[in-house]
Amino acid sequence: MAAAKLDGAALAATVRAQVADDVRELGEIGLATVLVGEDPASQIYIRLKHEAAQEAGIRSVDRRLPEETSEEELLGLVEQLNGDESIDGVLVQTPLPAQIDEARVMRSLDPAKDVDGLHPLNAGQLFFGHPTMVPATPLGIMRLLEEHRIQVAGARAVVVGRSLIVGRPVALLLLHENATVTICHSRTRDLARETLEADILVAAVGQAGLVAPDMVKTGSAVVDVGMNRTEAGLVGDVDPGAAERAAFITPVPGGVGPMTIAMLLSNTVRAARYRRGLLAFP
Ligand code: NAP
Repeated sequence: MAAAKLDGAALAATVRAQVADDVRELGEIGLATVLVGEDPASQIYIRLKHEAAQEAGIRSVDRRLPEETSEEELLGLVEQLNGDESIDGVLVQTPLPAQIDEARVMRSLDPAKDVDGLHPLNAGQLFFGHPTMVPATPLGIMRLLEEHRIQVAGARAVVVGRSLIVGRPVALLLLHENATVTICHSRTRDLARETLEADILVAAVGQAGLVAPDMVKTGSAVVDVGMNRTEAGLVGDVDPGAAERAAFITPVPGGVGPMTIAMLLSNTVRAARYRRGLLAFP
């Protein structure tokens, strides 16, 4: 029997409607994004984020800098946005050009405005088990699992990929929810051996079809984060044939992608609550 689809588009619409209600309650909320250079995928993500923000009633500011921007110039813009009273959330789109130290830029963000959860204070809070500002993709994944009542506590969860924005934070969230977590990466010796043990499998690599159907445990929940542009269109990291073995699977597109954008908006509301003193920022 084919796996049930974990419909991210539908759940994202629910989250966005809640965000729109929250915005009405809180008054004006501002989200600023910063894009350096012209990476085509980043341009698409930025456009989608702005469209969703505006639809939810969030005022969004789209700052663009040329590819050759220096680190100091970018730090200057972040400092300006940190101090801007009309801006609640700031997102610096990654990847940044090679001349810019990404970690230094993330450290320069006001942690209470850091809607991507990449400032070390927020990453540290998650590490310590006190999620504060958590990256949107991992939050969206947990929300999808919760919505479909997929048991996390006690489950074996395998996360393929260890990026700061997806793999590591989702592994920590799964651990906090009492899964037994394995993190795999490019140096993992026998990937299939690990993935076959997974009750919950999260693939966040960026290689089309890396997870073959025979690498998936029967009856498992498979979360495909991958967004790979191929001649056949947008495909995930998991071969679609895996749906014959899994019990649940996220489609690509329409799974994790829309949830990421919805949870970014939700993080912007959270940032607005921090700034208004309605939530205590640690
Ligand atoms: P990333 O920073 O490039 O990280 C990729 C990870 O995959 C790395 O940890 C890498 O290992 C690991 N890896 C590479 N080859 C591997 C292999 N053969 N076997 C096992 N692991 C391997 O990527 P990312 O930013 O996490 O993004 C991953 C994918 O998700 C991309 O397709 C991206 O477009 C997509 N994405 C989607 C959303 C969404 O909303 N749906 C959001 C963010 C990202 P090492 O650490 O050893 O190099």
